[in-house]
Amino acid sequence: MEKQTSHIARRARPRGPVGRLPDDPVILGLDVGGTHTKMAAFDFDGELLGAHAFDSQRVLAAGSQGSIAHEAEAALARAGVEAGQVAAVGLAIPGSVSEGGSLELCPNIDLDLEACTSLLRARFPQARLAVLNDADAAVLGDCWRGSASEHAGGNVALVTLGTGVGAGFVFRGVLYGSAHGAAGEVGHLCVDPREQEPCSCGRAGCLEQYASAKGLVHTARREHAARRELASRTAASPSLEDAARAAAEAFPDARAVLDAAARRDPSACAALERFSEALGFGLSQIACVVDPDVLVLGGGLSERADLFLGAVRARYRACALPPCRNTPIVVSKLGNACGMYGAASRALDLLARGECSGTGERLL
Ligand SMILES: [Zn+2]
Repeated sequence: MEKQTSHIARRARPRGPVGRLPDDPVILGLDVGGTHTKMAAFDFDGELLGAHAFDSQRVLAAGSQGSIAHEAEAALARAGVEAGQVAAVGLAIPGSVSEGGSLELCPNIDLDLEACTSLLRARFPQARLAVLNDADAAVLGDCWRGSASEHAGGNVALVTLGTGVGAGFVFRGVLYGSAHGAAGEVGHLCVDPREQEPCSCGRAGCLEQYASAKGLVHTARREHAARRELASRTAASPSLEDAARAAAEAFPDARAVLDAAARRDPSACAALERFSEALGFGLSQIACVVDPDVLVLGGGLSERADLFLGAVRARYRACALPPCRNTPIVVSKLGNACGMYGAASRALDLLARGECSGTGERLL
């Protein structure tokens, strides 16, 4: 799938054939996540004016009762702007979009993309609408207003650490578009060929099995159950079901694992060590291929990077090719908001070009 290229630069105004802009125009950026969708209004310089978040399934799934247009009103109200000021809307989704605009692959959410875009078009008839992959949006957002902004004309790789693991790449200031839309699927890089448990992709040993929120929880529970099983050899023996239940109660989600790791809980620390090893090794493999100026970590888990960044950097340095060994690994200063910024940035780019983009996104 070849995506339309995009030059990333700080720009005050679109310079292309934009047609008539509303007074005090704003851009809406939406980032659809498996659990929550974040949206914000931005000015053309990328200043965030107001943000809002809502439950993705309640609003975006097929047959859902909520309305994305209603949620957009909440974001606009927080920004203190009117719907008529919206000049463009960017929609980042956790999947890929065909040239014809249909959803090709979107494994983590039941998303009715056609209904969403129809509702947005009806609510903002004057606005351009761009749809793009969320990892692509994240790297665009970070290059626009985040940690990689000083490398925006260079090579940037951003790895998102959320429910899954993905990546977006910018080369010489241009978003990289791949042949089949799979270029950012670094979550399925094999980092442990000895792994027996299968990944969601059907193979085993994928980066996502350790370095995602889902993977972190799974590893912590496995460690917890194994420790209980070991302890049971010298004490009253719990059943396997009891051990699994206790592990699930101890680690209901990734936040619980990270909190426990901060308290030096042994199961959580072991899971985080596995997470860091896999991520550091995975980043070294990415660097072998794309050799970026900077490796950026984004997504929800990156907001707790103080717990693992040192270990990830150490593992990276131990595994990277010598020319790439000193490549900086940084955390996006936009945190989990990268995707919103990037969606808005892409919408602004397309508004400036005033023409249909290529596959993988649409200007509607
Ligand atoms: Zn996989």
